[in-house]
Amino acid sequence: MSQFRPCCQELEAFSNIKSPLSKIIALGFYDGPTSGIAQCEICSTPYKFVMLDWDDNQEVRIFSLAPITLPAWNQMVNLLSKHESPKWPVWFPRWEFPSEIVRDNVDSETDKILASAGIPELVIASNRYGDQILAAKKLAYEDLEYVKDWFSLQPSDVIRDWFSCLGLTKEREEILAPLE
Ligand SMILES: [Zn+2]
Repeated sequence: MSQFRPCCQELEAFSNIKSPLSKIIALGFYDGPTSGIAQCEICSTPYKFVMLDWDDNQEVRIFSLAPITLPAWNQMVNLLSKHESPKWPVWFPRWEFPSEIVRDNVDSETDKILASAGIPELVIASNRYGDQILAAKKLAYEDLEYVKDWFSLQPSDVIRDWFSCLGLTKEREEILAPLE
């Protein structure tokens, strides 16, 4: 395990690496981020991330990454910074606002920012807190129909084995060797 951080564009070539997504705003979380937006510290590209699967211990989490624009990222940071100080590398906004009107406004601005994301480009496997990337793969056009938020999956959905796609298995625990 190396401390080297590749750019998001090069992630496919590496495994078990420090994540370049060094600023994460977690909008969904369950003992760690499950959805939100994150920015690559090397090239500044921000992404919307959605969790596609996780292992039984919720330690290894599979995410899709869809690019958003830098203005959209900045807008999200500014929107939330009016109400609390940003906390990097992982910011879990408390989502507490002085009134319902303010809250509705933040909710609808957030929805717009998330809806502005492009087509998912990458699938990654990360550790629980998102600072370590175990494997990454560029998504092909035919993969896109399987890119679905794990929390929104329906019994009728065909579920892709993202762990196998990334050369991982859900049972392997040694892949989570701690960072040196
Ligand atoms: Zn990058």
